Amino acid sequence: MALIVHKYGGTSMGSTERIRNVAKRVAKWARAGHQIVVVPSAMSGETNRLLGLAKELSPSKQDDAYARELDALAATGEQASSALLAIALQAEGMPAVSYAGWQVTIKTNSAFTKARIESIDDKRVRADLDAGKVVIITGFQGVDDGGNVTTLGRGGSDTSAVAIAAALKAHECLIYTDVDGVYTTDPRVVPEARRLATVSFEEMLEMASMGSKVLQIRSVEFAGKYKVPLRVLSSFTDWDIDINEEAKSGTLISFEEDEKMEQAIVSGIAFNRDEAKISVLGVPDTPGIAYQILGAVADANIEVDVIIQNISRDGKTDFSFTVNRNDCAKTVELLNTKVLPKLGAEDVISDTKICKVSIVGIGMRSHVGVASKMFRILSEEGINIQMISTSEIKTSVVIDEKYMELAVRALHKAFDLDQPV
Ligand code: ASP
Ligand code: MG
Repeated sequence: MALIVHKYGGTSMGSTERIRNVAKRVAKWARAGHQIVVVPSAMSGETNRLLGLAKELSPSKQDDAYARELDALAATGEQASSALLAIALQAEGMPAVSYAGWQVTIKTNSAFTKARIESIDDKRVRADLDAGKVVIITGFQGVDDGGNVTTLGRGGSDTSAVAIAAALKAHECLIYTDVDGVYTTDPRVVPEARRLATVSFEEMLEMASMGSKVLQIRSVEFAGKYKVPLRVLSSFTDWDIDINEEAKSGTLISFEEDEKMEQAIVSGIAFNRDEAKISVLGVPDTPGIAYQILGAVADANIEVDVIIQNISRDGKTDFSFTVNRNDCAKTVELLNTKVLPKLGAEDVISDTKICKVSIVGIGMRSHVGVASKMFRILSEEGINIQMISTSEIKTSVVIDEKYMELAVRALHKAFDLDQPV
């Protein structure tokens, strides 16, 4: 018997029919003798629908102006799906109870729409589990010190599930979703992409931050910090498949690297089109320029990703970095008004038609020549590299957006990711 957390995404909870299937699957696990805590997302489309209603009533205001109410609103999506699941379980003859985050209590800070979990009280949940009930806890939300309902940011139910699994010291956290695991790359771009049976936690962290959308990045960070074993698997298999088979399906995000290191050098290719490149040209090359440029950007709460500073010629240099595309215009304006005049730089230019492609793999630590192979493949395809950034287990390049699919396909093939391991 083990304590296991199940998380079901919005599509898995998308209709009463699907909720009934989730209930049958959960009941199967509980009847096999496990203690089960379920963390559901809102029914698919519901969070967007609710936030859309708010926009209709206040189209001109910035979201931050009524962030508290947005959270009170959006949190209802998960309350509804949780209660519906409890009803479906009871209809299956399985005792079940649902709680909203504030009832558990899941304490967060007060950063509405992007709150962070601070603590989880497990008393009530454990008492119910010991009484033989399935416990359902709303994903995506908590409550702050002032008793206000908060939400954890879009996709936050993943983080709720992992945090709850950590608090309960669960044996495993199963993330049920509409794909059957983590792939070597997005199968929509490369049909030969393969499902990975295991991926190391660090690789998953890189892939999530590099644009793989399977898990919310904060959930992966949380899993790493508390060593919660995570598995991503499909909720669209027959609910009554053999439980042992189901328990081994999908992709395990593992903390044991040794076996993995024997395998592929590159485990996956991630890409994202969400960034824009900004260059400050003709910057006088003196101490403190990086701070003056990026300090101003950070003060405006804009996140910076890849950074490049060139060597200087005639005492001047160019300085480039990437930001989220949505922040591009704001960043350019900030640099033009606040930074350029002070710095005496020549110009600011931006390019939104870029993308970032990354190869990720634990094996890169112990193998040389992986990055250079990446550069060779791209050059053979005639793709120009604009920026490069590396870590121990990843190499990212920024290239023209129009070559993204070509680059991903070529790299996927060159690193043998379409071959069975
Ligand atoms: N319902 C929330 C969203 O759509 C949280 C989640 O599904 O993880 O972002
Ligand atoms: Mg999700």
